[in-house]
This record gives sequence, structure tokens and C-alpha cells, in this order.
Amino acid sequence: MDFTVRKKLGKCRRGVLKLENRQIQTPGCSLYTRGGAVPHLTRDVLHTVADLPAIVHLTLESTVDQPGAETITKCSCNRITEFLGLEEYVSYLSIKDPFQDIREGYNEEKCVSVWTPGGRKKVDVNLFLTFLQTFKPNIAECLCDTIPASKQTDKRIRKSVDRTLKFLDKCIEEMESKSLSSCNLFGVIEGSNSEKERIRSASETSKRSVAGFVLEGFSSSECEWNHLLQRTVEAIPDNKPRLIHGLGSPEEVVIAVDCGIDLFDSSYPFSELCYIFLNCFTYPCQVAEHGCALNLNWSRKRFKAELSYSPPAQEPLEQKRKIQDDNLKNSSNGTDNDKGTLYTINLNETGFSSDFNPVVSGCTCYCCTNHTRAYIHHLLVTKEMLATVLLMVHNLQQYFQFFAKIRLSIEEDNFEQFKGNVLTGYPL
Ligand SMILES: [Zn+2]
Repeated sequence: MDFTVRKKLGKCRRGVLKLENRQIQTPGCSLYTRGGAVPHLTRDVLHTVADLPAIVHLTLESTVDQPGAETITKCSCNRITEFLGLEEYVSYLSIKDPFQDIREGYNEEKCVSVWTPGGRKKVDVNLFLTFLQTFKPNIAECLCDTIPASKQTDKRIRKSVDRTLKFLDKCIEEMESKSLSSCNLFGVIEGSNSEKERIRSASETSKRSVAGFVLEGFSSSECEWNHLLQRTVEAIPDNKPRLIHGLGSPEEVVIAVDCGIDLFDSSYPFSELCYIFLNCFTYPCQVAEHGCALNLNWSRKRFKAELSYSPPAQEPLEQKRKIQDDNLKNSSNGTDNDKGTLYTINLNETGFSSDFNPVVSGCTCYCCTNHTRAYIHHLLVTKEMLATVLLMVHNLQQYFQFFAKIRLSIEEDNFEQFKGNVLTGYPL
């Protein structure tokens, strides 16, 4: 694995991760899967989406039972991505599904718990390494004791960091003896909302032989998360890639990129929209079934338009949350005047029944070039599965192209303005 930073603007960086003759452009995101599948999309339909990432994200949580190690061992496939029909991608295996809540109190000294459709499953270092040997991911997140970002005691946070370092040491030691050197192990940085523990975790992990870093346990509900992220990244060396889970909205992404984060997961097009409109975390595939479309489309001209931006990042994010909360109240009160939020369109809204425009004007996805908002609204009202397929195609393309625009803005030296536009909602 070779990671090159091609350009830096402050702490934000434009890079390329090369692995097995494939290139992952950063800042970028991985292709999110559950149970080894991109929700709702067949391989052919997925390939209609523009700007697909070169890296697919599998989670141990959603593959540990099914297909499981036994099935992959029995089949004649070389690795799990071949079994899943995703062999053209670089594969990244995380422990948890970032869409799922972190459950407290179930990790132990020698194992962590993941939650499968069949219930709780304990994974220790030996079992984890068995999955690495069987699944053969190109990149793997190390076993870790992740805890929620808030309401943690100092003692529990210290324990989380210590346990995660012990898991890392044990995995590095065992991987050498099990000839697992082809798997690039990413060390995990924990520390919840403690700056001191975040820095300790980052510094200690940096001393180990890791190929990159995963930042776990960040949550935008923590008001100081951007400062915490900044301080954490400062304690990591520059020459290795940094991946984060838990942040994915457009505003969160540009702030994290500004702190020097390289990779994100793409669970946001499923999970965040679900949260906004349903106030609950249900199966991510249900997002599109509830008619939410991402709108991250805007012209380059508008980016370059004059804009004076200076407010701190916190303020617009808080405003955004308030808008979301207000929308949520309206939604739960049964009103139908909710047309969406800053970057979303709720196509369930009755006003779209006679709107014959594309979902997002100018979007080149299959959905927008062939269908109208009124048609998607009709599919939603009649509960046709095609609505979710079309919305997934659209949402993914919007999200992937958002990252392409971030990269372009860095290359063109105008990331700061791009970030300001995203935070103020100017582009829309
Ligand atoms: Zn579209």
C-alpha cells in the first residue's frame, strides 16, 4: 500500500492511496455495504452511478454470521469480495457497522461484541484473525473497544484506549506469525470526548506498526468535536491515511477534511436522512423508501461567486440541527409542509405530485435523466420498490460527486471558499 499526499492546503490534503494497481482518490469515501451488498442495487444498476469509489466497505458486524467464514472457505473464491461480486474494489473491513448505535457495556478485556441478526457475537483476537485469513480484506480496522462519544467517565475512557492498544499489540504480534502481512492493518484511535485520551491514543497508536488510522467514536452531537478532531489529527503522522466513522453530512465532511481527514464511509446517504425524517435508526435501506433525496448539486460558477464567509463552524451546524429538529417536530405532528432540509428533498410531500422537474436539476444520474419528481412521488405513494432503487442511485451519485468536488476545490486552491459555501448552505 502506498499513500501519497499530492497537495496540502493548511491541514487539508489531496492524496492518492495505491493498492493492488488501484487508486483511491482522497479526500474520498468508501462504498457502503450491509451484509456484503449495496442496499437495493444490483451490480449492473450500481455501475450506472458516476464517480464510484475504488474502495468498498464491508463490516464484520454484518458479515460475521452471513455469509460468515465457513461459506467463504467452502466456495472456491479467493476472497470475500469475489463471492460478493465486488472483486474490482479494494476492500476495507471495519468492526462495526457505522450505521448501528454503539451499545455500551458489552465489550470485555479479551473480546468485543458485535450485533448480528442472530444476536450478540463475541469476537476475540483469534476469531478476528480467522476472519482476516478467510475474507482477505486489503485493509482492516483493528479490533477496538469503541464507546459512545458522550457521558463517559474518565476511567471508562482510559480503559477504552488501553484495551484498544492491547488489541492492536496482540493483533500485530499474531499477524506476523500467521502470515497476514498482505492485510493492511489500521490502528484505531479512541478516547471519546477526552482531549487528553484522544492525544494519548493517537500518539501511542502512531508508535505501532500500522498502515493507517481509523478515528472511532466521533459524533457531531458533541459540540466540541471539531476542536477534538483537530487536536487528535495533530498527534498523527502525516504520511499515513486517516479514516473516520461517525461523521458524514456535507457540513461534517468539509470540517473533517479541513482537519486533515482523508477517508469517510458512505453510510450517510442511508442513515442521516433516515434520522432527519424518522427520528429513529431503522434499517438504512428504508431511507429511500421514505422518499428522501440528497441535493448536493450546484454549479461551479456559484462556488466562485463572491461570498464573504467568516462564522465559526459551530454556528451554522447548530442552526442546521435546529432546522432538522423543527422539521422533525413538523413531521411527527403529521403536517405535510416539510419539503426537506438544507441538503435533502422529501419527495413524499404532496406538492411534488405535479412537479415534473428532475429530482435535482442538472444531475446526470439515471434517475434524474429518465424520471421526474412527480414520478418518484407516485412510486412512493404506491409503495413501489422501484422508488428506493432510483433514489439510491441518485443519492449515491450526489454523495460521490460531492467528494469529487471537494478534491477539485483543493486542486484549484479554493477549498476554503467551498467549505464556507457548504456550511452556509449558499450552493443551494
Ligand atoms: Zn440524480
